[in-house]
Amino acid sequence: MTFNPSLLPKVELHVHLDTCLSYFYIKQLDPTISIDEFNQQFVAHKPCFDLGDFLSKVIPQIDILQTKSAITLAVDDLFYQLKADNVIYAEIRFAPLLHTKQGLTDKEVVEVVISAMNEASQKYDIKARLILCTLRHFSVLESQETAKLVVEYLHKGVVALDLAADEARFPLDNHIAAFDYVKKAGGNLIAHAGEAKGAESVTETLDKLQVTRIGHGVRSIEDSEVINRLRSQNILLEVCPSCNIICNIYEQIDQHPVNQLKKQGVKLNINTDARTVANTSLNKEYQLLYDVFGWSEKDFIDALNASFISNNVREKLMDKLNDFYAK
Ligand SMILES: [Zn+2]
Repeated sequence: MTFNPSLLPKVELHVHLDTCLSYFYIKQLDPTISIDEFNQQFVAHKPCFDLGDFLSKVIPQIDILQTKSAITLAVDDLFYQLKADNVIYAEIRFAPLLHTKQGLTDKEVVEVVISAMNEASQKYDIKARLILCTLRHFSVLESQETAKLVVEYLHKGVVALDLAADEARFPLDNHIAAFDYVKKAGGNLIAHAGEAKGAESVTETLDKLQVTRIGHGVRSIEDSEVINRLRSQNILLEVCPSCNIICNIYEQIDQHPVNQLKKQGVKLNINTDARTVANTSLNKEYQLLYDVFGWSEKDFIDALNASFISNNVREKLMDKLNDFYAK
């Protein structure tokens, strides 16, 4: 049996705008940069020594994304990559407060991304929505500011609040009020958990932030109670295999629990997370799971049901997927 991941229409729910700048993009800004220099600056060593090592590849990308034109071009660049992966629907995330170093306000940042997304969505025929990230090390006020942006731009392209960054070193208490605020306004909630910390971090996140999806969550496998809870609450894990390897959570892909999680009935989907830093694409991730765990087309559970898009758009996308699987 042959497996050609590029033929599969896909849904990507976990991809950060500020970790996905391609060589093609960087070369437009700096025509003299060589591929070796690009790899040195933006792609992680395998594996990263620590989070600081990983962030050293992300910060230069954030530093670039500080003007309207740089952000607009980056959104187009990401859609180009999504198209190559045959993605039909994507939820793209970023932290608006990180893009205000050269004078843009956080509202302007969100508006630039929304308008670039709408344009690219037409150009590439890919539906998309945005998730705004607050970060573990943010203050209560910064987190509230991010939550207010989510609510202000809800139904205008933004669908959810996410909590990202250093799970191991920062607690989530600063963010509880922000998550409550978005929930009361009818927004969706996600948090990164169970990656740098174990299953107890997933429990804490479910208890305190009332999320319906978890970014990563792969270390839930360490506690059967947590697995039971994920199943009974129908929580989706946004699994990003190569990124976990790059971040040194598992040494090799055959030690990654994605296959066990799936066998135990946990709802999950496959994502890239940080395309440039982890030097990956969604086609590569699908191919990896085929090669290592023998997954076939039907194993790539359609993530559309866990997406935050409106029902009528979801149904249209579902028709596209069903057309493919009916063949
Ligand atoms: Zn992430």
